[in-house]
Amino acid sequence: MLMPERAEIPPVVLSIAGSDPSAGAGIQADLLTCARLGVHACTAITALTIQDSVNVQRFSLVNPAECLQQARVILDDIPVRVIKIGMLGSAEMVRALAGLLDAYPQIPVVLDPILAAGGGTSLAGSGLLEAMRSELLPKVSIITPNGPEALALTGAEDVRAAAVLLNAQGAQWVLLSGGHGEGPKLENLVFQGGILRQTVIQERLPHQYHGSGCTLASAVAAGLAKGQAVMQAIEAALAFTHDALLHAYPLGSGQFFPNRF
Ligand code: PLP
Repeated sequence: MLMPERAEIPPVVLSIAGSDPSAGAGIQADLLTCARLGVHACTAITALTIQDSVNVQRFSLVNPAECLQQARVILDDIPVRVIKIGMLGSAEMVRALAGLLDAYPQIPVVLDPILAAGGGTSLAGSGLLEAMRSELLPKVSIITPNGPEALALTGAEDVRAAAVLLNAQGAQWVLLSGGHGEGPKLENLVFQGGILRQTVIQERLPHQYHGSGCTLASAVAAGLAKGQAVMQAIEAALAFTHDALLHAYPLGSGQFFPNRF
């Protein structure tokens, strides 16, 4: 009897993030993005959000010890190439995760420093910013803040100064996405070692989008998992996200959903 051919084994990203039932953002965005890019995403869920396409109504955090257990059993069993981190929600979750990362120093970490939902609801508990700065940034390979996140994390007054500070605080690379600015073009800036290494200009698109930051960060993680160099992964992720937003669709009465099919 002929044996079926062995399936090719895809590279693996572990996404540690919150659940978004609308599947625009959060864990669901990471799964859709990674699948589209040929990467298997395992997941450890930090929070359950109650949200639609308009806004997050409320959320409850998973016990940090249980979140860690979800991640640990995967890391001990499956060859995870990249860890992607999204919504953490509390300083306790940040501290727990920082301890976990210490045990896997060889795995690159992509951090999307989520502070608020696209609709405006805060997703950050007290002390979260300080814990991220002191405990997480030194363990991060690439941080992917938008402008408001970069300013909030550093206290800087402009985004370029914020990116330099994020490098100084330990994040090796900073991909500062330009979507929150104004004008017909947006500027995505890549910093390493406090120096601007690359500027990627894109056309600003007309709608509000649900999960654009999650899509970008998980596309970066997927690229790294496939063996791309950092700059190549960043440029490919920016192009992928722009295309997903260009073809975004309205599902409910709120933000448009990135098209990751
Ligand atoms: N993660 C979760 C669980 C969320 O609910 C949200 C937004 O509501 C985000 C991340 C951030 O989404 P975005 O990519 O639009 O910044």
